[in-house]
Amino acid sequence: MIPDPKYSLSKALMPDGVTERFVIVGDDDRVHISSSWLLFMADTGRSPNTIRNYGARVAWYLSWTALTTDWRAVTLSHLALWRRAVEISPVRKTNGQSSMRTAKTVGLWMVPLRSFYEWADAEGLVTTDVASRMTQMKYFAPGTAAGGEHGRRLRVLTEVLRPAGTPVEAPPEWIDDAEARQRLETLTLPTRDRFLIDLMYRTGIRAGEALSLFTADLHFGGGSRTLGCRHADPHFHVRVDNTVENNARAKGQPRLLFVDEDLVEGYIDYLLERGRILGSNDKSAHVFVNMYSHDESRGRAMSYSGVKKLIARCAKRIDFDLTGPHMLRHTLATRLVRGIGCEAQDLDVVQAILGHASIDSTRIYTHDLESAKKAALKSLATRTITLAHE
Ligand SMILES: [Zn+2]
Repeated sequence: MIPDPKYSLSKALMPDGVTERFVIVGDDDRVHISSSWLLFMADTGRSPNTIRNYGARVAWYLSWTALTTDWRAVTLSHLALWRRAVEISPVRKTNGQSSMRTAKTVGLWMVPLRSFYEWADAEGLVTTDVASRMTQMKYFAPGTAAGGEHGRRLRVLTEVLRPAGTPVEAPPEWIDDAEARQRLETLTLPTRDRFLIDLMYRTGIRAGEALSLFTADLHFGGGSRTLGCRHADPHFHVRVDNTVENNARAKGQPRLLFVDEDLVEGYIDYLLERGRILGSNDKSAHVFVNMYSHDESRGRAMSYSGVKKLIARCAKRIDFDLTGPHMLRHTLATRLVRGIGCEAQDLDVVQAILGHASIDSTRIYTHDLESAKKAALKSLATRTITLAHE
């Protein structure tokens, strides 16, 4: 509970005898050093309203802190306790009723505190690293919505200071079981499904990107000058401007991705079967078309719901909860970052493969270290056992 303030916000007449400024005063009538922070805010153009709000909140914080410790030597967990105290202290309304603060309001209580500690840290008053730990830099690349024209760095509160109830981005779901991955890799599927799964699982493209692919984008025999592409190794182009039939959206960055011989063979298998089944009815420019259906959708571009159903069928057969096609992408990304079954790759390489505009999007794959370690060792063990039997 927030006790009666030992410190309070007050107004003081400046030495010129005219100007009034906000100050924080103790119940012993001594001006607290945090008053210099309020003066600093005034000097840097903050509005009197802001200064009053910030000052009142920090005054309460100083009173609360004084009960247990020195405000100059607090740790992040002390601030988390303070946030909790604000959270569970009812607010008395003018009609006499009381209510709890919302998560958003509690978050706003932390803003002045951060401002205060940044100032105090710059003044050399703080003896811990609490000020630097309260904020972390978040970088938004130029050209992205958040980054604008020049790129932008934003400060965000660290996790511990986040009000309860603020949604924290869920870590990406991936196939963290080496045996489940192996079952998926070796599952017997119709040629189109096998190729689609492999393409997403091994190049990390989104379902929307796979569904937007045209056969003309697959340069599996190498590019040619007439196509304006000189890459000799098998590759394909993820484009965002294909005129699709299926409302699929390729929303990432256009990019070129290389493929290995297995994928090339998988594609050839699929093309042969596609030709056999659809014959002269094959008129779609899309790589992935319906060929196992017997209605009017046959021969048309495959839809997103078709991919989801395929993933659901695979989930059942490999006995692993695949929540959607994105799990294949998350799995590749996590493996590349962690070096699971491959050499660990630098984040910028993974970023380019995934088509992320900002490396911050790629950084989410540094998630879940514990289970990643477990999975890495497990996949190692699987291979060792396989070798021992051979
Ligand atoms: Zn090409």
